[in-house]
Amino acid sequence: MSHSNPLAYLSAQIEEMRAAGTYYRLRELESACEPVCRADGREVINLASNNYLGLANHPKLKEAAIRAVQQFGAGAGAVRTITGTMAIHMELERRIAAFKNTEACVVFQSGFAANAGTVSAILGPDDHIISDELNHASIIDGCRLSKAKIHVFRHRDAAHAAEILDGLKDQGGRKLLITDGVFSMDGDIGPLPALVEAAEKYGAIMMVDDAHASGVLGRNGRGTVDHFGMHGRVQVQVGTLSKAIGVLGGYVCGSRDLIEYLYHRARPFLFSTSHPPAVTAACMAAFDILEQEPERIQRLWDNTRYYKEALRAHGFYTGASETPITPIMVGEAATAHRFSAELFEQGLWATGIGFPTVPRGKARVRTIVTAAHTREQLDRAVEILARVARRMGILSA
Ligand SMILES: *Cc1c(COP(=O)(O)O)cnc(C)c1O
Repeated sequence: MSHSNPLAYLSAQIEEMRAAGTYYRLRELESACEPVCRADGREVINLASNNYLGLANHPKLKEAAIRAVQQFGAGAGAVRTITGTMAIHMELERRIAAFKNTEACVVFQSGFAANAGTVSAILGPDDHIISDELNHASIIDGCRLSKAKIHVFRHRDAAHAAEILDGLKDQGGRKLLITDGVFSMDGDIGPLPALVEAAEKYGAIMMVDDAHASGVLGRNGRGTVDHFGMHGRVQVQVGTLSKAIGVLGGYVCGSRDLIEYLYHRARPFLFSTSHPPAVTAACMAAFDILEQEPERIQRLWDNTRYYKEALRAHGFYTGASETPITPIMVGEAATAHRFSAELFEQGLWATGIGFPTVPRGKARVRTIVTAAHTREQLDRAVEILARVARRMGILSA
């Protein structure tokens, strides 16, 4: 007797993606994450990673990781609330809290877990979330999990956020105003000062997700709160250890009681095993580098300016980017994926991004320069981009 496949609808959807030109296969990186790397059998310039400071393969991080494996083992053995809190986990949290100038810090397994776990822990069904329309998926999921009422404000429009807060002022429940510090697809910066003012005026909790600002903006990479001089006025600061820090993890910084509360109520903290010692030790080594080698961040920004200027000179449109995240706007998703595939063939790795990650009609190839790229590599990358874009009609010839 034959049975029909109950998952056949998934195959149909994959077929639809193929027909729309949005299907992708995962590329396989065959070397460490470096400015020039090997992937799918090719040597390519890597403008696709979030390895802003070139720390992912840094000797000091690797040495710290190896030492931690030898001393403490490969795994943590349990969740934080059982036996999975090692002394180095606590040391890293103290280190980050001091770095961010906050009372306390909790580290999660990822930035995704930090956002989703925190928003859903501190709010409930009677509460209100006022959220930028382009906030990261992990914030959106956290909002949904909290069951609070979600109010979306226009991208970077603090006046719109204030208007929504004003409309809610006679309603019960707590209010959380939340923004990305740097937006991951566009590379623009959230209008923190105006948002903080609105939050203070209406008594809302202010939360910032600095995933792409950690290690990039502010003194020694302290993030947007430092960049804008907003210390003490943002109650919940999220950061990631997965991007500029070069390893893995997410964290929340804030008051001692906020962190204590998350130790008791954040579900990824309670129900998912803590980081292996190697991860934690490597993160610690990365913070040493942030504090001791600020010139790395300087190089990241010098490279960013150099690269953006070269793109502009060729006539590329890079949207509203103000940071190393540099989208090259092309319009349709299928075009973005074809552009990306063609660039790869020519020796440049840059990600094609379309709906549903970005709105329809705003597809792009996203590029991210790092501190580790040389000028030569950047020149070569721009040359490949221009040549392929002209051939494809993305740039007029
Ligand atoms: C990447 C990212 C995250 C998730 O961080 P991970 O540590 O990779 O899980 C959260 N928020 C934003 C804005 C991001 O770009």
